[in-house]
Amino acid sequence: MHATGAARPRTMLVKHADVLVTMDGARRELTDAGLFIEGNRIVAVGATSELPSTADEVLDLRGHLVMPGLVNTHHHMYQSLTRAVPAAQNAELFGWLTSLYKIWAHLTPEMIEVSTLTAMAELLLSGCTTSSDHLYIYPNGSRLDDSIAAAARIGMRFHASRGSMSVGQKDGGLPPDSVVEREDDILADTQRLIETYHDEGRYAMLRVVVAPCSPFSVSRDLMRESATLARQYGVSMHTHLAENVNDVAYSRERFGMTPAEYAEDLGWVGADVWHAHCVQLDASGIALFARTRTGVAHCPCSNMRLASGIAPIRRMRDAGVPVGLGVDGSASNDGAHLVGEARQAMLLQRVGFGPDAMSAREALELATLGGAAVLGRDDIGALAPGMAADFVAFDLRQASFAGALHDPVAALVFCAPPQVSLSVINGRVVVRDGRLATLELAPLLERHNALARSLGEAARAS
Ligand SMILES: [Zn+2]
Repeated sequence: MHATGAARPRTMLVKHADVLVTMDGARRELTDAGLFIEGNRIVAVGATSELPSTADEVLDLRGHLVMPGLVNTHHHMYQSLTRAVPAAQNAELFGWLTSLYKIWAHLTPEMIEVSTLTAMAELLLSGCTTSSDHLYIYPNGSRLDDSIAAAARIGMRFHASRGSMSVGQKDGGLPPDSVVEREDDILADTQRLIETYHDEGRYAMLRVVVAPCSPFSVSRDLMRESATLARQYGVSMHTHLAENVNDVAYSRERFGMTPAEYAEDLGWVGADVWHAHCVQLDASGIALFARTRTGVAHCPCSNMRLASGIAPIRRMRDAGVPVGLGVDGSASNDGAHLVGEARQAMLLQRVGFGPDAMSAREALELATLGGAAVLGRDDIGALAPGMAADFVAFDLRQASFAGALHDPVAALVFCAPPQVSLSVINGRVVVRDGRLATLELAPLLERHNALARSLGEAARAS
């Protein structure tokens, strides 16, 4: 008998994974297991023997660990053009920013698109399937549309944050006056982006986020009006907060409040808000965030690189603050690897708070369920029926895992961070056999490196 009428969704069967980490309510880890997928969603998870035996595409993942795609909650992808810049290699936040703003002032739309593709390629190969990006500098006609185009091209699930800076040096802010925008323009462009691109539906591949850069680069008014705009459209809000002691000192001096008090005063707390860093969030700030379900993007590598301190993630988690992981921009964490970030999160909590401060499994939970919660999503971060078909596979048969296969899940975090062999996003294969399936990496990197060179030359000539 032939089916007629509407086409049935394409199916995919994953079978024989050595271990499948579900991150479901019971945190089940299944052996010789797999998934059955229809279109862009998971319909069955279980032992290989319990799944259908065939599908349009069958992936035999013997020798692999399969887990939900990782979620990155904080990044500045354009910074991939300015990694390891000598003048910014050994500075803390404010000094680091001051030496880089001058270079970033020469960014072009092509640089935004190409660097976003490069940053996404790097993240995808590390196991990340959903990322946010915080773009807050728009020189020379650059637009958030340039990043959005990149995400669509490479096939990554994307939360595009419309960042902004409006208080330049002449008004007591940190950025040079040449890279700040007028507040009316910022709000109008943010509204345009939401209306053009934001998808609030389940399995959305693209959401828009309202994201003034930080308390030291925008005004109180812009923070308040951004919150009003975001809530009018039901989109999330994101900014940097309490990153280091100078950031806290600026807040006390200029606003007479701690960063957490300032956020509360502006309406910047709630389940629709997440703040990057919060290294210096105090006890009352942690209680406030827990009470209001305000999220935190923890970026351990960046915090170490800029010597910002050790974020009190153990205390936040115990209090009930939603916490996800972020690699942060490539100029303050020059290696964006999300499993690597989970590893550093685990290790850094131990440095700060003792050997039992974070387990490998909790670090993986931050990287999946934690990130999903922070981004306001309940359709990613776990492998269960009804969830989006976003999953990755790591080959356990490599030297770095040798001797650790009695506990491959912990090994993923304890051993050297691996590259994925497979990544599926929204039911589509984006990485196959360890290689990007959606674009050619070599010419992309060649173009990226040429643009990085010309960006450096433009900055030196100015
Ligand atoms: Zn950042």
